[in-house]
Amino acid sequence: MKNKRSFLSKLIAAAIISCCFSSMPSSARNSIHGDVNGDNIIGYGDLRLIQGYVLGKNELTADQLTYADVDGDGRVDAFDITMLKENFNEHMNKMPQGTWIASGSKGKRYYNFEKGTVTEESSGAVTSYKCTVSETNLNFDKNVCGDANHALFSWIGSDKLLLRWDKGYVEELHYYGNAAINYSSLLSGKYVTSGGYGKRTFNFKGISGSFTGQNGSGLGFEYTFSGNNYTFYMGTDRKQKKAVYKKIDSMHFSLTWDDGTVERFTKQDIQVKNGITYVNGILIANKTYALPSTYNPGAITSEAQSAFNSMKADAAKAGYTLTICSGFRSYSYQSQLYNSYVNRDGKAKADTYSARPGHSEHQTGLAMDINNASDSFNNTPEAKWIAANCWKYGFILRYPQGKQNITGYKYESWHVRYLGKDLAKEVYNSGLTLEEFLCIDSVYKN
Ligand SMILES: [Zn+2]
Repeated sequence: MKNKRSFLSKLIAAAIISCCFSSMPSSARNSIHGDVNGDNIIGYGDLRLIQGYVLGKNELTADQLTYADVDGDGRVDAFDITMLKENFNEHMNKMPQGTWIASGSKGKRYYNFEKGTVTEESSGAVTSYKCTVSETNLNFDKNVCGDANHALFSWIGSDKLLLRWDKGYVEELHYYGNAAINYSSLLSGKYVTSGGYGKRTFNFKGISGSFTGQNGSGLGFEYTFSGNNYTFYMGTDRKQKKAVYKKIDSMHFSLTWDDGTVERFTKQDIQVKNGITYVNGILIANKTYALPSTYNPGAITSEAQSAFNSMKADAAKAGYTLTICSGFRSYSYQSQLYNSYVNRDGKAKADTYSARPGHSEHQTGLAMDINNASDSFNNTPEAKWIAANCWKYGFILRYPQGKQNITGYKYESWHVRYLGKDLAKEVYNSGLTLEEFLCIDSVYKN
């Protein structure tokens, strides 16, 4: 009698573990002690049946007697009534508060009992409702779960709730937090990480997600946050892990976990459209990602050209002359160029300074060589001016010094790539190459 709450909780929890929500027919009888009438919920109906039996007002079948023996002493008597009553009294008419995450018949969704909303994780669709509680019934003013607007509920401990909807739907809710979910601040999409935990892949969706470590094992999670303080609930046992969030730029943030480990997150949404690879919407041509031979903008794009014109004008004011010595190069032209280098220097050497057809950034119409595409341009005042200023016009120096093993190309002080002003500024400020910025590589596959 001392551990009444845990006693009942365990019984109900055991019953829940032993069944599968989505496939369980609504008529299935669960072994919940106290559920005398077999409606899979412990409520006043059961209490009345036991009371009636003890008072000699009604009979119970042998099966019902088993369930009516709440304290398990082999008899159905006043003690069972007391135990059942005390146990569910504290949960009777108790309306859930705050935000809860539901899983079960309708997939993952979020209830907010303050605002009276339920949000579908998959579509983001929100249903607003008014809900009243009476005994162990939740009555909604509209169909909140499929075509059902009424559910019987059971509390399992203080942070878990079982809803048994009409029409056989079942949902298990676990407590998420007091705060309503701030959807505009949620993380979304795929991120790769670096840092103390090695390379991991995270997929964020709503307030949920999953991640895989280097061993490939996946783990689901949910998270909540207040300001920059994040709490993750990892895995099925919802192990709590806290972290402090810090935004770095539009494609990066870091989490400093409670054990001190700093993990850097890089957004990495790789999409291939018509054979063209985009990483977070940025068109990529490098040794890993090739353009199809049919991709042919025919010239430097007008946006990149006008950005160059502005840069050229400002450079002139500073006393420097900038001209494009090589802009757009078609697949077939690059093919001729590369083959001529291979004939002259051999394939291995040609690969260090010339791109194979399809792999040249010049085919994008977004890259250009300025003034003099040779090592003699390095350290010239013009080269220095470009390195210091090109980001202001939306360009980055694509193959910086000392990054050959990352970009796949030796230092080219003359080759710039147009990214647009916002992004070029972020890449410049990061001090990273585009490959590092996006966590991609640049290596020929053969
Ligand atoms: Zn170039």
